Amino acid sequence: MKDLLIIGAGPAGLTAAIYAVRAGIECAILEKFSPGGQVVNTYEVENYPGFENPIPGWELMSAMEAQARRLGVPIESVDVAGIRKDDAADSFIVTTADGGEHAARAVILATGASFKKVGVPGEVEFTGRGVSYCATCDGAFYKGRTVAVIGGGNTALEEALFLTRFATRVYLIHRRDEFRGAKILQDRVLSNDRITPVYDTVVGSINGATSVESVTLINKKTNVQSEQHVDGVFVFVGYEPNTAYCPAELLNPAGEVIVNRDMKTRIDGLFAAGDLREGSIRQIVAACGDAAVAAVHAYAYLAEREHR
Ligand SMILES: Cc1cc2nc3c(=O)[nH]c(=O)nc-3n(C[C@H](O)[C@H](O)[C@H](O)COP(=O)(O)OP(=O)(O)OC[C@H]3O[C@@H](n4cnc5c(N)ncnc54)[C@H](O)[C@@H]3O)c2cc1C
Repeated sequence: MKDLLIIGAGPAGLTAAIYAVRAGIECAILEKFSPGGQVVNTYEVENYPGFENPIPGWELMSAMEAQARRLGVPIESVDVAGIRKDDAADSFIVTTADGGEHAARAVILATGASFKKVGVPGEVEFTGRGVSYCATCDGAFYKGRTVAVIGGGNTALEEALFLTRFATRVYLIHRRDEFRGAKILQDRVLSNDRITPVYDTVVGSINGATSVESVTLINKKTNVQSEQHVDGVFVFVGYEPNTAYCPAELLNPAGEVIVNRDMKTRIDGLFAAGDLREGSIRQIVAACGDAAVAAVHAYAYLAEREHR
């Protein structure tokens, strides 16, 4: 049995592990894909302190992973499917999709969040054939072409700007009359002559024969429908927490894990950090901060049990 299991190897999980091993806790990370989390899909990060110039997302996360591995943190490749407390043994059983079980005295949940779908006809059918959730991964396919970006928050604005490196026209479709993203990003978007903002508008459907050819736009103020030719659609309309494996008692109605300021959940010995928690500002530095808090309190929890 491990002292501590950490679920997820994004910024929160890797940071929690770094703090835990340095405190002498025997821990391991369980990660369903490769380490790095959402940041590996980020073209570049400009707001994580310590780097004078923007750093590519994959580079930042490779460094965090290397740091954790150097300190001796094992990262196991498994998809966590459930977690329960064994009260008699005062420990946790983490179950995995392949039928495996892992036991630990304490657990930190750090499984982050995933993209929300926009939920219109054509979205599922054309995913991978013109519909994408990752500009860094797919942007280069649209050299000299026309794309739509759906959304108006920081990620939508950042990714629309990134796509102008390839696409000659980016329609930025937002349901409100102004973007929600940071002022500096709004200024960059509005002064970029490859981006056409389309306000007060939702996408009714994504259309095409074998791949994306157009989007049907609906103006929310006038109800007027129009058809816009595009070769690709990038969806950035928010996130949902990756918490399907969590007991319902831990979650709020949005599926986020409820924690106190020590990152403790409602179950003693179970902590949560990063984008999956209620009130997260969904930023790398915040995920790392949460994780440090969670690891320090996990250490205190384990130490208290040892000295009983
Ligand atoms: C396109 C984009 C651009 C962004 N740009 C910035 C930026 O410039 N600056 C910034 O500060 N933030 C940015 N963010 C936000 C930032 O990426 C997140 O806040 C941060 O990654 C959250 O870290 P996390 O560790 O909580 O979760 P995540 O990064 O989501 O990591 C969670 C990990 O858990 C794993 N996991 C999920 N479910 C399971 C399971 N059942 N079993 C095992 N493992 C599981 C996932 O595979 C993943 O590796 C951006 C996000 C995106 C998508």
